[in-house]
Amino acid sequence: MYDEEVPVLIVGAGPVGLSSAVFLGGHGVRTLVVEKRSDTSMLPRAPGLQARTMELFRAAGLGREIRALEIGDSHPFFEGGILRVNTFAEIADAEVLEAPSLDGPAISPERVMGCGQDRYEVVLAEKAKESGGDVRFFTRLRSIEQDDDGVTATVEDIRTGGTTTIRAKYLIGADGAGSTVRGLLGVSRSGRGTVFNALSIYFHAPELEEILADRPFILCYATAGGTMTGLSRLHGRDPWLAAPVYHPERGETPEDFTDERCVEIVRTASGRPDMHVEIMAKVPWEGSQLVAERFRTGRVFLAGDAAHVHPPAGGFGANTGIHDAHNLAWKLAATLNGWAGPGLLDTYHDERHAVGAAMAEQAMVRNRIRHGHASAEVRAQMVDDIIITLGYRYTSRSVVADGPKPVLKAPLELAGEPGTRAPHVWLARDGERLSTIDLFWDSFVLLTGTEDTAWHEAASRLAGRTAVPLRVVRIGAGGECEPVDADWAAAYGVSPRGAVLVRPDAFVAWRAGADLPEPEKALEDVLSRVAGAADPLVVDPVVVDPLSDPVSDPVSVEPAVDSAAAAR
Ligand SMILES: Cc1cc2nc3c(=O)[nH]c(=O)nc-3n(C[C@H](O)[C@H](O)[C@H](O)COP(=O)(O)OP(=O)(O)OC[C@H]3O[C@@H](n4cnc5c(N)ncnc54)[C@H](O)[C@@H]3O)c2cc1C
Repeated sequence: MYDEEVPVLIVGAGPVGLSSAVFLGGHGVRTLVVEKRSDTSMLPRAPGLQARTMELFRAAGLGREIRALEIGDSHPFFEGGILRVNTFAEIADAEVLEAPSLDGPAISPERVMGCGQDRYEVVLAEKAKESGGDVRFFTRLRSIEQDDDGVTATVEDIRTGGTTTIRAKYLIGADGAGSTVRGLLGVSRSGRGTVFNALSIYFHAPELEEILADRPFILCYATAGGTMTGLSRLHGRDPWLAAPVYHPERGETPEDFTDERCVEIVRTASGRPDMHVEIMAKVPWEGSQLVAERFRTGRVFLAGDAAHVHPPAGGFGANTGIHDAHNLAWKLAATLNGWAGPGLLDTYHDERHAVGAAMAEQAMVRNRIRHGHASAEVRAQMVDDIIITLGYRYTSRSVVADGPKPVLKAPLELAGEPGTRAPHVWLARDGERLSTIDLFWDSFVLLTGTEDTAWHEAASRLAGRTAVPLRVVRIGAGGECEPVDADWAAAYGVSPRGAVLVRPDAFVAWRAGADLPEPEKALEDVLSRVAGAADPLVVDPVVVDPLSDPVSDPVSVEPAVDSAAAAR
C-alpha cells in the first residue's frame, strides 16, 4: 500500500532537518530526510554556532569534526562584536553597537565558533547517513495526511516527476520559513511579519582584508550611500558576504541589483571606488518575525524556521532551530521506544514555542537597535546573548518546578534550578576529564554524592524495574566520577546529601536538596511525571525542592501567551 515506511520522515535538509536526523540517529531511530534542493547549501549563511549548539554536536559525537571546520580561532571575531561605520575604510572609528558575552569556561565546556552552513551541513549529512538515516535530494514534499497510527506523505522526484508514498510514524517539518508542511497543516503564524528586505551578495575582494586592518568583528554595518550594508566576518576571509537592505515599498526589486550595481554597493560601503570586486552569488531574503501558533499538530511537528522566523540580528535562527531538533529528538525516540507517557510529546510545543517566541522578540530588539530606531524602552528589553543562548528556561510537565518561570531571566543563572540547562562542572572518570554535560544523552541521570544517602540504592532499584532509562552517577571519592575543581552539589544548588534528576537533553527535571523519606517512591513519582505519564502525579515542590530561589529578578521576559497551549 505504501512505497516506503520509516519511523520519522523529515522534510528539509537545512541545519535543522539534518540535525534532527543526526540526533534521532543517535537515539537509534531511523529517518528519511527529503530535500528539494540538489545538495546541501552552497552558500555560507548562518555562520555563528553558539556554545550550546556546540554542546549538542559534542553530545552527538560531532564536536571535534565541526570544530575542525573553524577557520583559525574565530573567538576574537565574536569578542569584536557588532560595529557601525560610515565606510569599512573608516573601521578605526567604528562605533560598537553590541558587545555580547557568548560563552565562558565556567559556563560551558564548549565555545562559540564561526563556520558557514555550507561547511557544517556537509558534516551533518554524513553523520545522518552513518547513523542509519537516508538523505534524499531532488525530492519535494507534495502532500500529507495523518490518522491515529501515522502520517502518509507524497513526495515527488523533481528530476523525473515520479511520486512516492511514504508512511511514517511521525513527521518533522524542517522546511524553512515558507514551510510546505505548515501550509498543509493550516497552522497560522503571528508576529510583525516582514520587517525589512535584504540581498545577500557573496563576492571576492582580496583588498578588503587589508582595508579592515585585522579589526575583528562579527558584523559591521556601513551606512555610506544612504543604506545599511552589513558585512559578515565569521565566514573567515574572502569570499565575503555583504547584505544591503532594499525597499519594495519604493518599488525596488531584487532584479534591480545587477552585478554592476552590487559592485558599486560594495565599493561605496568599503570607501574604495576602484576596488576589485567579483560577484559570486546574490540571494534575496526577508527579515521577518513570525511564530507558528502550534509546533505540534498530531503526529506532525514544526522545527526551525518553519516554526519561528526572526531577523538574523543575534544569529539565533539556525541555533534555535537546532535546539528545537534536540528537544524533539529524545521525546520522539522515547515515544517510539515505548517508554514515554502520552504527555511527553506535548511538552515539545510547551517548551520550544515559549523559547521561539522569546528569541523572535530578542532578535527584533537587536534589529531595531542596529537600524537606529530603538527607544530607551526597547533598549532596556535587550537580554544578553549568553542568557538567550544558554540560559533559557522551560516550563512544562516534564519539569518539576514551583510554577511557571520567565523564559529569559537576567542575570544568567545556571544553578540547578529545574527547567534550566544543567550546570557544567569538570569531572574526572578513569583518568579522563569530562564535563557533567557529557553525562547526559540517552537516559535520565540522577546525580548524587558519595555520602551515605539512600539515593544511590533507591535509583538503582528503580532503574531495574522501570521502563524509563535511568542511570545514577555518584560524584565524589569512590563514586563513578570525581570533581576536579568545583563542588558539584553547590553548583547544582543541593547539599552533599541531595540529588538532581537530569533529562536526556541536559535540562534539570527535578532536585531534592537533601535526603527524603521514601526516596524510591519520590523518584518514581517524579520520573513518571517528567517522562509524560498520562495522569501526572502532583509532586509537592516544597518536599522535593526545598531550595528557595535565591535570585532577584531585575529583568524578566515572560513566557509568550499561547492560546493553543492554554486550550489544551
Ligand atoms: C544573511 C543571514 C545570516 C544568518 N546568520 C545566522 C547566524 O549567524 N546564526 C544563525 O543561527 N542563524 C542565522 N541565520 C538564519 C538561518 O540561516 C536560518 O535560521 C536557518 O537556515 C534555518 O534552518 P532551517 O533548517 O530551519 O531552514 P532552511 O535552512 O531554510 O532549510 C529548509 C530546507 O527545506 C527545504 N524545503 C522547503 N520546502 C520543501 C519541500 N516542500 N520539500 C522538500 N524540501 C523542502 C529547502 O530547500 C531548505 O533546504 C541567518 C540568515 C540569513 C539570511
